[in-house]
Amino acid sequence: MATQLDYYEILEVTRTVSADELKKSYRKLAMKYHPDRNPGDEQAEAKFKEINQAYDVLKDEQKRAAYDRFGHAAFEGGGGGPGGFDFNGFGGGGLGDIFEQMFGDMMGGRRGGRARTGNDIQTHVTITLEEAFSGVKKDVKVITRVACESCHGTGSNDGAAGVDVCPSCHGAGKVRAQQGFFVVERPCPTCHGSGKTVKDPCKSCHGAGTVEKERTVGVQIPAGIEDGTRIRLSGEGEAGQGVPAGDLYVQISVSEHSIFQRDGANVYCRVPLRMGQAALGTEIEVPVIDGNRAKVKIPAGTQTGEHFRLRGKGFSVLRSSARGDMYIQVTVETPQHLNKRQRELLEEFEKEAGENVKGSPEHSGFFARVRDFFENKS
Ligand SMILES: [Zn+2]
Ligand SMILES: [Zn+2]
Repeated sequence: MATQLDYYEILEVTRTVSADELKKSYRKLAMKYHPDRNPGDEQAEAKFKEINQAYDVLKDEQKRAAYDRFGHAAFEGGGGGPGGFDFNGFGGGGLGDIFEQMFGDMMGGRRGGRARTGNDIQTHVTITLEEAFSGVKKDVKVITRVACESCHGTGSNDGAAGVDVCPSCHGAGKVRAQQGFFVVERPCPTCHGSGKTVKDPCKSCHGAGTVEKERTVGVQIPAGIEDGTRIRLSGEGEAGQGVPAGDLYVQISVSEHSIFQRDGANVYCRVPLRMGQAALGTEIEVPVIDGNRAKVKIPAGTQTGEHFRLRGKGFSVLRSSARGDMYIQVTVETPQHLNKRQRELLEEFEKEAGENVKGSPEHSGFFARVRDFFENKS
C-alpha cells in the first residue's frame, strides 16, 4: 500500500456523512465489487478489499475520529491482513502515546496488563495556536510521590533486609471478610495494601517508601496537535512501592487565536475589505500561521462571505509533513464617517448605480420578488 486513497473517497461519501448513509454507500459498493459477482477480476477484488478496509475504520466512531485527525498515519504499522486491519498491530512504533491513549480502552486496557503500578497523574498545559502548529517542548511541574532517597524506596531503615512479607495477608495486600452472605475483599489493615511490613520504618517517609516531591517533566508536544488531546508519558507518574511508576497524562489545551480559527488541518481567517477594494479588485497580504505572509488576489466584484483558498498554508498534519489549507473569508465593509468628498463621490456613484441594473446581482432579483409579493396581495 504505497499510496492510499482517502477512505471517504473510497466509500464515495463526504466527510460529514452520517452513519446510516455511510452504511448504505458501503453496501452498494460492496455488492458491486463483491468477488462472487466479479469472478477472476483482480481489480474488483482489490477494490472490494479497499472498500472493506475503509468501512472498517469509518464505521467505528473512535477509529473514524482518529482517521479524521491523523489520516492514514493513525493506522500505519498495522498488520493489515486480508479483509482489513489488525488493530492491535500498532503497539510500539511511531504512533506512541496519544494513540494508545485514544484506543487504550477499546483494546482492553493497558499494555501488557501490568498488575500494579504507582498512581497515574493528570495535568494540564495550555499552548498557543502557533505552538500547536510548530510543536513545542513544555516543562510541566507535577507534584508526585517519588521513591524515598533515604531508604531507597524500601520504607525501612535497614534497606531491603528490613522488609518482610505481611503476616496478615501473606503479601497479597488484600484480606477477605465475611459480610452477611457475601465475602468482600478489602485492603489489608496491617500493611495498608502494600503486602509488606517494615520493622524499623524510615524516618523520612514513615515507612511508605515514597515521598511527595515537585518534579519538572519535559513534554514534547508534536506539531499539529489538537485542542483536548491527552499525551501519556509512560512511567512519569507516581512511584509505587516495589512496583513500576504510574503514568503521567498531560491534557493539551490550545488557546484561541486573535486572527486564526482552526478546523482540523484547515485554518480560517476573516479579512475585512473596503467596499472599493471588493468592487474594483485588489491584491491583499494576509498572515499565515507559520509566521510568513501570503498574497491573495481579490477579483473585482467580490462579495461578503466569499472564500479564497491558499493550498498547503494550513495546519501541519500530526506526524506527517502534509499541511492543510488556509481559507480567507472576506467581509466587505460599508464605509462610515464619510468626509465631504467621499460623500459627494458616493452620491454620484449612487445615481449611476440606480441605472446599472447588472451592477448589483442580488439587488434586482430581490426587488423583483418584492414586487411580486405586493402584487399577489392586492
Ligand atoms: Zn524512606
Ligand atoms: Zn497485609
